[in-house]
Amino acid sequence: MNENPNRERNGLIAGLVIAIILGALLGYIAELMALFLAVYVAFQFVQLKKLYAWAQDASMNELPFEDGLLGQLAKHIQECKKQGLQQKESVKYQLERFKKLIAVFPDGVVILSGSNRIQWFNDQAGKLLVLEKRDTGQPVNQLVRSPAFTRFLKGSSEESVTIDGPSVETNFSAEKIEIRVLPYGENERLLLVRDVTKVERANQMRKDFVSNASHELRTPLTVMKGYVEMLLLSTEGEERYSPPLKKVEQQVIKMETMIDELLALSRLEEGNVESTASSVNLRSLCEQIKLEFDAAAEKNEQVLVFNIEPSINLKANKVSLLTVVRNLVGNAIHYSAKGSVINIGWAVNDHSEGVLFVKDAGQGIAARHLARLTERFYRISEKNALHKTGTGLGLAIVKHELERHEARLVIDSKVGEGSTFQCCFPAARIES
Ligand code: ADP
Repeated sequence: MNENPNRERNGLIAGLVIAIILGALLGYIAELMALFLAVYVAFQFVQLKKLYAWAQDASMNELPFEDGLLGQLAKHIQECKKQGLQQKESVKYQLERFKKLIAVFPDGVVILSGSNRIQWFNDQAGKLLVLEKRDTGQPVNQLVRSPAFTRFLKGSSEESVTIDGPSVETNFSAEKIEIRVLPYGENERLLLVRDVTKVERANQMRKDFVSNASHELRTPLTVMKGYVEMLLLSTEGEERYSPPLKKVEQQVIKMETMIDELLALSRLEEGNVESTASSVNLRSLCEQIKLEFDAAAEKNEQVLVFNIEPSINLKANKVSLLTVVRNLVGNAIHYSAKGSVINIGWAVNDHSEGVLFVKDAGQGIAARHLARLTERFYRISEKNALHKTGTGLGLAIVKHELERHEARLVIDSKVGEGSTFQCCFPAARIES
């Protein structure tokens, strides 16, 4: 093809020269030039229209012009369009690959728009949530009907929510479904849906086992405790029997405490606890704690300092709150050296949460343990522990009790300097 972009210009000049020569011969120079220019403009206009019509045509197989500026322009348009088509094909191919990949995922995936409408979902999500193709475009919370899921979708601090599987009879029915939400794209969200029926069953079996075993152990332990106490009384002062029997008594008491705490945890997990909330005055609650612990603190030559305004009330369950403070103050006494001061106070933090704190100047906790302290049975090295008969269940109970109040436990600690345990209650629970 002739790549000369000056073809149109040369044609124009040649035409004008011919018009001038002809005009000079005939005596109509201006008229012939004007006539030529008019014909030239009309001709180019027709050419442009042809180019436009060709560019509109999707196939674009043959070039409308082989040479000149318009020919080059047509070639350029053809290349751009070809590239565009190739890119489109490539994106389509990638999208198909992505959809095929997601389709074989063992977990369900749902893409939601900013307004939580379903944009796309894979087969597994369709099975787990009982969705059909025609549900695309519908708000997801109208199809997955669960108050917990709706709350979770609105925004929650939890990573995931577990809901009952849809009760509709299908060949594929999951009893328990776990749903996670991930931000995706500009304003979209990705729901990851997983069948957790087996995990939940195993969890329930574990809970039932712990609860049943604790109940079963209680009676023989009470009998053992009775006999040990009787033997201790009858062998009082006898060097040979008294010390070992005291050790047995200590271990029996530890097991008894452990069983009580395990049963308390089971009840908390099952939600099988008294949950009425009332206005609890923190000052008087702490006075009760002071009465309970003053003797133990005195024995350790420690001082309990309470600093709580009389006007502070919390909308809470009093028994539950007492359990929390009892555990934290008990720990502060157990894990602090003789002669130290333990502060119990109230403050409002930067998030407007009400913070009930217990601060000790005790042995402190290394950073690597902090995240695990609320796990059941987690204790830091028994060897160096000041409190030998601890069970490792106290902080697990504290965490559960606080969760009942939408509150959280924050632990700050430095080895050798002491620890602060903060119970952060949402502003809505403060009634001062
Ligand atoms: P335990 O019955 O062992 O005290 P907890 O669940 O109450 O069980 O505490 C778990 C572990 O956390 C304890 O074994 C102890 O090592 C550590 N701990 C708890 N409170 C304190 C504290 N105030 N100072 C130092 N360590 C603590």
